[in-house]
Amino acid sequence: MQNRRNFLKLGAGAALGGLASTMPGTVMASECGEIKWNESADVIVVGSGFAGLSAALNAKRSGVGSVLVLEKMQVIGGNSAINGGWLAIPKNPIQLAQGIADDSPAELVSDQMISGRGMANEAILSNIANHALDVYQLCIETGVKFREGFNIQVGGHNKARAIRTQHGTGGDITTKLYETGVKEGIDYRLQHYIEDFIMDGQEIIGLKVRQNYRFPDLTTGKSIFIKANKAVVLANGGFARNMELRAAVDPSLDPSLDCTNALGATGEVTLTAMAQGALPVHMSMIQTGHWGSPDEGGFGWSNALLSIGWHEGISVSVLNGKRYMNERADRKTCSAAIMKNRYQDGSPAYPVVFFNHKDHPDDDRVVRALRDEMAWKVDSFEQLAGKFNIPLTQLKQTVKEFNAQVSTRQDPLFGRKMDTAVELKPPFVVSRVWPKVHYCMGGLKTDIGARVIDGRSMKPIKKLYAIGEVTGGVHGEARLSSTSCLECMAMGIVVSETIKSDLQG
Ligand SMILES: Cc1cc2nc3c(=O)[nH]c(=O)nc-3n(C[C@H](O)[C@H](O)[C@H](O)COP(=O)(O)OP(=O)(O)OC[C@H]3O[C@@H](n4cnc5c(N)ncnc54)[C@H](O)[C@@H]3O)c2cc1C
Repeated sequence: MQNRRNFLKLGAGAALGGLASTMPGTVMASECGEIKWNESADVIVVGSGFAGLSAALNAKRSGVGSVLVLEKMQVIGGNSAINGGWLAIPKNPIQLAQGIADDSPAELVSDQMISGRGMANEAILSNIANHALDVYQLCIETGVKFREGFNIQVGGHNKARAIRTQHGTGGDITTKLYETGVKEGIDYRLQHYIEDFIMDGQEIIGLKVRQNYRFPDLTTGKSIFIKANKAVVLANGGFARNMELRAAVDPSLDPSLDCTNALGATGEVTLTAMAQGALPVHMSMIQTGHWGSPDEGGFGWSNALLSIGWHEGISVSVLNGKRYMNERADRKTCSAAIMKNRYQDGSPAYPVVFFNHKDHPDDDRVVRALRDEMAWKVDSFEQLAGKFNIPLTQLKQTVKEFNAQVSTRQDPLFGRKMDTAVELKPPFVVSRVWPKVHYCMGGLKTDIGARVIDGRSMKPIKKLYAIGEVTGGVHGEARLSSTSCLECMAMGIVVSETIKSDLQG
């Protein structure tokens, strides 16, 4: 008699519309066959960003058995490795040393709920925020270094609680999590592309994987089958680099908008999970980073440079020489305001952001930006107006009004918090801004413990978990800066606890 486990169904990754062209043609939704496993692991983690690395390390430490991390690219880290290294931690030691004693996980969640505009998941955000000090501890214990004495208030947060890695990159964290994992016996495999899920009914039991894959060519390498004895954790990140999918879920995103993400952020594993019934949520909520510069590709320097500009300087429309937004509002608010600046033919009229050069002559953010000509030093209002074709009289008037607001610490026009604003006087550091596609709030619906929810039964798909940017519905309409780093690593802790408790119960 046939044992059911001998006949197993492959997932339907290849059948998924927009991704079909990037998926191998051999795998069809209807295809069934006997699986000959090439190897097995107790826990398989898909993706080697913050989420995957944290999950792997915490799962290994929890004693659930062997842990295998599969990464399709030639290097570990995904978006995490190229990220800006900003990490929101309420009650972090630097914050406390600054005398800020009234912050808490609940305060962070409250800011996130405002930014999420009623669409965020308070229970999951609270679970994450309550693990913030565990995340900080994980970083310190694995050897991550943060900038001494540096803890600032970033857009949309009501407290200074964002610390930053020493070199201003998430690579400072991914490297340490990876090195620690290697020492602790985790098996990491690069160039292993997840092609499909192997399901036994409503339970995931393994993965079809293209070994020795060379991005982006799906004819490279060969397919193998890896059995997952206890769990599969999806930590494959977002899909901002998948132009077809991005356009399908949010046609309003101008296809010419640049993207900050790593090339591998294409979301095919998310689609494969959806084909197995995983419930997608908020797929059309895609965040643009309002600090993008049209004068450099990808993430570049502008995010770091404008961490000065938003606080101390102003943003002015080149169309009329006026301020047009609260420079310290959250990403969604600012992006929308910036993108309204258009010439009559609809093309972007890139607004400028400027602040005093004399206050930051040797700051590495300024030095690098000027060197690479994504920002410029201008010595006078006339030079500023001339270079960017801004009406001069209004420009001077705007700065005069702003300087008066600096003394009163009030911004009647836009309600900006003025505590860090500085009186402006040339020479200025000036750069242009235009948003870039940055982060996917949408993805797979999970419960508070990271179990992937099947939309047909609204129950978890057995042994399938998801954490990090692949998940949806956590942040609602807009994610606050510096909170993804926290989320990914915190959920790596949470998922290891969930797997353990699911195995026991
Ligand atoms: C430039 C930039 C700067 C940012 N700065 C900050 C910041 O300072 N602070 C902050 O909190 N957030 C920041 N973010 C957001 C944050 O970095 C990301 O949301 C976060 O890194 C996502 O982590 P992750 O582990 O979920 O996914 P990722 O880090 O993207 O990792 C996913 C991995 O899965 C792999 N993968 C995908 N598909 C497959 C497949 N089929 N098979 C095998 N592997 C696969 C990918 O190659 C990738 O390596 C930034 C994002 C960007 C792009």
